[in-house]
Amino acid sequence: MTKFIFVTGGVVSSVGKGITTACLGRLLKDRGLEVAMQKIDPYLNVDAGTMSPFQHGEVFVTDDGAETDLDLGHYERFVDINLTQLSNVTTGQVYGAVIRKERAGEYLGQTVQVIPHLTDEIKSRVYELAEQGETDVLITEIGGTVGDIEGQPFLEAIRQMRRELGAENTLFIHVTLIPYVGPSGESKTKPTQHSVRELRNIGIQPDILLCRSRRQLSKEMREKLSLFCDVAPEAVIEGLDTESIYELPLIFEDQGFGSLVAERLGVNGKPDHTEWKKVVQRVKNPKHHVAVAMVGKYMALQDAYISITEAIKHGGIANGTQVDIQRVDAEDIETHGAKKLLEGVHGIVVPGGYGDRGVEGKIMAIQHAREAGLPFLGLCLGMQCAVIEFARNVCGWKDANSAEFDPDTEHPVLDLLPEQEGVTDRGATQRLGAYPMRIMPGTNGRKVYGSARGSERHRHRYEVNNKFRPELEDRGLVTAGVSPDGKLVELIELPDHPFFLGSQFHPEFKSRPTRAHPLFREFVKAALGHAG
Ligand code: GLN
Repeated sequence: MTKFIFVTGGVVSSVGKGITTACLGRLLKDRGLEVAMQKIDPYLNVDAGTMSPFQHGEVFVTDDGAETDLDLGHYERFVDINLTQLSNVTTGQVYGAVIRKERAGEYLGQTVQVIPHLTDEIKSRVYELAEQGETDVLITEIGGTVGDIEGQPFLEAIRQMRRELGAENTLFIHVTLIPYVGPSGESKTKPTQHSVRELRNIGIQPDILLCRSRRQLSKEMREKLSLFCDVAPEAVIEGLDTESIYELPLIFEDQGFGSLVAERLGVNGKPDHTEWKKVVQRVKNPKHHVAVAMVGKYMALQDAYISITEAIKHGGIANGTQVDIQRVDAEDIETHGAKKLLEGVHGIVVPGGYGDRGVEGKIMAIQHAREAGLPFLGLCLGMQCAVIEFARNVCGWKDANSAEFDPDTEHPVLDLLPEQEGVTDRGATQRLGAYPMRIMPGTNGRKVYGSARGSERHRHRYEVNNKFRPELEDRGLVTAGVSPDGKLVELIELPDHPFFLGSQFHPEFKSRPTRAHPLFREFVKAALGHAG
């Protein structure tokens, strides 16, 4: 019988509810339990695929090709599981399904309503995920904050689930903020009291409060929270800011969070954090330091490249190295030049992206890395920019470009596949999810992977144009990885360079703190070599 944990948010968004949920997943997994994770996003988009990183941070991609909320990335990294499309539910999906059923006549003449039809649809998605495999515990996080108009049907659905399953099989955790305010510098519990009241109005009484706070909670505050919010004093858990998010699971464990949850659900098991402790040990005691530049276009936004920054850190963990990630705006490189802005860094990463803003700056950065022997890792668009740079500056095709940016160029070294021509819908129409790859013998890629095969996640429309491949290869661009039929280029590299690799796929989505993706591990190692 699966146990269900529901995580709601109070007071404000962006207090780290996703990371907290992911940490809880780890605490339970380390008790030998089979854990499944799910995020409910109350927005009307069917998925995150059409959302701008400006609005919603990175779009995470699962093996089965779902374009999801970035919290799924935290779940995969902390719990070390591969999620599927069942793990991200949106309002767009549930309404879409209900309306399709109504048109098909499946409701047999009934008036279709939010309760019970929409809430049934929501519950069926939670149960469906729980029924995949032998799930001991399913943790479902409800996005947004209590009181949001879009969130109401989801809260109603989880309220019903407690009734259906019983209190012994369900647990409500409310993640809230204790702000530190005023000239007197006091931590305030009032906003939390209000958000718990809001939850109770809907019929949900939280079992555990997780209080994000900059200051430690005093005994009095815990007692006050316990009294006003009607939770046991030991069920007031404190979530302070930490230097590394990877310390959090152990900090929560020390406060008894894991044991409390396990006990309440009757799923006791002795925690074994050996693997996780190794990660924390390495994060806190680095032997080396390197500086790496990430050349992109959403540089002020912490969340826009979150899987990439985490994967670089994983590469650091694997090498006992602290990596200082410097964010360089590609458009600044266009104005000030690559050499100046990349001075002092030991490697550069060029991430993925869409549209031509900043592309020329990325190309300039890559030219600098190629010529100066600076370790380079290109991801998706970053790899495509490396192909353009090579075509222009080594093959001498000055107008070389991707058809995405210059549809009229004589040298479209990146182009759409025939099946992408004429596709006008923007949602879920790219090449998405995991595809197998063959890795060529004798290449650096083969050394990095230590294998002739790989499977990596994709999210893009454009591909290296096979028309130009023979000439690019003649001039020295090595195709290190291809699709099994050889028709699609997956991985490129330059042989006479300390580390110059570009992937059409997104390796960052498969990297874990416990198991860095080999491309990031070897990239950081090369940066260390460059630092000398
Ligand atoms: N814009 C490029 C394409 O669609 C790259 C996409 C990406 O970097 N994810 O192919």
